Amino acid sequence: MSSRVVNESSMFYMDFCPNCSNILHLDECMGEIRHKCQVCPYFSPIKNIMLGSRSFYKLKEIDSVLGGKAAWENVDSIDIICNSCNHGRAYFLQVQTRSADEPMTVFYKCCNCGNRWRE
Ligand SMILES: [Zn+2]
Ligand SMILES: [Zn+2]
Repeated sequence: MSSRVVNESSMFYMDFCPNCSNILHLDECMGEIRHKCQVCPYFSPIKNIMLGSRSFYKLKEIDSVLGGKAAWENVDSIDIICNSCNHGRAYFLQVQTRSADEPMTVFYKCCNCGNRWRE
């Protein structure tokens, strides 16, 4: 496992679906921001984040970054088996979730089929 140091600018704050462990996406509904799972019907309101605040935009950025192709450009790849196509190589991203006290979460993206998963 790589011990690559991730600087603050590449840290992410995000949450995961308690039902299916997929990344929750930010969703705006009637002025309320919530975390919404794109796989199952789960969602949870995000408290203490005011619409238009810096932290919201930060979150929004992160959301589109991880979901977008750009996040996966120029990232390192390692030897790991994709559980979708059995390809032996995937890109990886280390992400800080919730607080700095918690360990990094590692995301993988298959070099072959684009399947994404987290450690
Ligand atoms: Zn879900
Ligand atoms: Zn694959």
